Amino acid sequence: MFDYQKHFIEKIDQLFHEERYRVFTEIQRHAGSFPHASKFDNTRFEKNITVWCSNDYLGMAQHPKVLTAMHKALDECGAGAGGTRNIAGNHHYHILLEREIADLHDKEAALIFTSGYVANETTLRTLANILPECIIFSDEKNHASMIEGIRLSKAEKRIFRHNDIQHLEKLLKETDDKRPKIIAFESVYSMDGDISPIKDFVKLAKKYNALTYLDEVHAVGLYGERGGGIAQRDHLSDNIDIIQGTLGKAFGLMGGYIAAKKTLIDVIRSYGNGFIFTTAVSPVISAGAIASISHLKSSQIERYQHQKNVNLLKKKLCDANIPTITTSSHIVPVLVGNSSLCKKISDLLLHEDSIYVQPINYPTVSRGSERLRFTPTPMHNEEMMDNLVQSLLKKIHLFKKSHLQTEDNKQAVLHGT
Ligand code: PLP
Repeated sequence: MFDYQKHFIEKIDQLFHEERYRVFTEIQRHAGSFPHASKFDNTRFEKNITVWCSNDYLGMAQHPKVLTAMHKALDECGAGAGGTRNIAGNHHYHILLEREIADLHDKEAALIFTSGYVANETTLRTLANILPECIIFSDEKNHASMIEGIRLSKAEKRIFRHNDIQHLEKLLKETDDKRPKIIAFESVYSMDGDISPIKDFVKLAKKYNALTYLDEVHAVGLYGERGGGIAQRDHLSDNIDIIQGTLGKAFGLMGGYIAAKKTLIDVIRSYGNGFIFTTAVSPVISAGAIASISHLKSSQIERYQHQKNVNLLKKKLCDANIPTITTSSHIVPVLVGNSSLCKKISDLLLHEDSIYVQPINYPTVSRGSERLRFTPTPMHNEEMMDNLVQSLLKKIHLFKKSHLQTEDNKQAVLHGT
């Protein structure tokens, strides 16, 4: 007889063995004191910490306008949407939010989903399903949600080298020009913090009659004069067929969306199982998202202070000779290059210095490129940055001297310091 329990234990043991068993830190964020939070140890308060790895990039999860809008909606409508959009939950706030998003991206229409993940998976799967003999061209570093959507569609796919226009064109050239094609890529890649050459992708899409699908999850709210992402910043929104985003990062809530032409949105609304067969986003979340998006459309101060702090932290790390991966975005990865060391540094930062930054290990990044990923926000002040740099330096010196440093580690760990 098959031993289920034994099998599950072996699967978990395998993760321990590969040093990639994930441990989640129990924290509680506090409105009004972000980026500080409380750390709990098995449900008991332990201490206050500074969070350096949140994707609430602008601290909008605690913005007074967002909180007020959510309180109001909660009192007006209650907590949940009441069911799927199809049956019981097509709420007024959903419609208002979709208008807000369509306007943000200068598109005819938008559609919201319960997460950015579901938006990617559902849209790519549905599109590739309904387009006859569709072939998808996908950047090799695309997010798991896009990969999953493509996989589930069972459409043919071609993976092009990361941000490599020549490789993409070679693959497009080899394809029958009558077949429908989708080029799927991101604007800001969340682990390396690099930005894709959207303009070049658009040119190729025009030349080969392909649809463009752009994931702006790590850019919406942060770039562009109204927070519409990199495509907006580079005046390319009109040339992108489908812009996908999240409400869960810079906008500070949860949920995902796509924005596109009316007909395309209607197709996904009508055929996308991940949209149809699930309870709709709460009207309370929707109201908060409307407040957040509309605030960031007109306010520049958050984006300005964010970029200022990002540049200041990058400079301080560089001056301290701490090896960051150079990025042109707001993501600041410090390369460690070894999974157990990455975890140990993260643990020590938390336990000794009350600094919270999760280790990023395989499979999120490739083996040998394990890192600590810092995301400074407008709320991180210079004193916090100085503390961080000093703490990091201490850990680096500790490990340089430590017996833990094996021959492998010597090569990989914290190069250049
Ligand atoms: N796309 C990218 C590039 C992401 O990094 C993520 C991660 O969170 C998602 C999509 C999924 O978005 P959400 O967190 O809203 O599900």
